[in-house]
Amino acid sequence: MPLKENLLSIKNTFINPNCLLIAVSKTHPVSAIKEAYELGVRDFGENKVQELTEKAPQLPKDIRWHMIGHLQRNKVKYIAPFVYLIHGVDSIKLLQEIDKQAEKNNRIISCLLQVHIAEEESKFGFSEEELMLLIESEELKDLKNIKIIGLMGMATFTDNEDQIRNEFAGLKRLFERLKARNLPENVEMKELSMGMSGDYLIAQEEGSTMVRIGTAIFGERNYN
Ligand SMILES: *Cc1c(COP(=O)(O)O)cnc(C)c1O
Repeated sequence: MPLKENLLSIKNTFINPNCLLIAVSKTHPVSAIKEAYELGVRDFGENKVQELTEKAPQLPKDIRWHMIGHLQRNKVKYIAPFVYLIHGVDSIKLLQEIDKQAEKNNRIISCLLQVHIAEEESKFGFSEEELMLLIESEELKDLKNIKIIGLMGMATFTDNEDQIRNEFAGLKRLFERLKARNLPENVEMKELSMGMSGDYLIAQEEGSTMVRIGTAIFGERNYN
């Protein structure tokens, strides 16, 4: 199906019309991003720094670029001037580097803390316990050029919908628990990034505020 129909059918199925659709354009050419832009999409997600820094200068300046993949500390400097939201923050060291690079660029960079909710070992993110320790830590309070605006999670890659739902529901409960706490000044729980092409409806039912959708918009990725 062409892009326009894909976008329309996704939007039509949204359970929460206020949920932000992030079009995950990784591996797809600049021309495909332009096409989606012309159809009104302004939020795009990439998971590789090099790909993001190659594409961004070729595209309109009002695009909001979401870094959704695992981010290495030594690469933060390349995206710090322009990135809109970093979804996969999974350590205090990475936060400190983002803070440092944000300061150099005279900006405050918004971040989401990634929580490990899947069964698979390979997926990155904090455990609940680690997250609580981070939120209470003195190191976090010192960071003036970052703002943590919520949490991000990826469910297990499985056909078992109950399992996916349970994982998302668990993340939502954690989000609500944090929200009810006395948080540091640079932390505010307002965004919950969960849901991809295969599970965004379940994610919305469980309270997602942003979904990251690639394949259902742009088609299958070709990694050659
Ligand atoms: C690739 C990717 C997505 C999009 O996946 P689709 O199944 O193509 O929608 C979402 N989130 C992250 C972190 C990704 O790396």
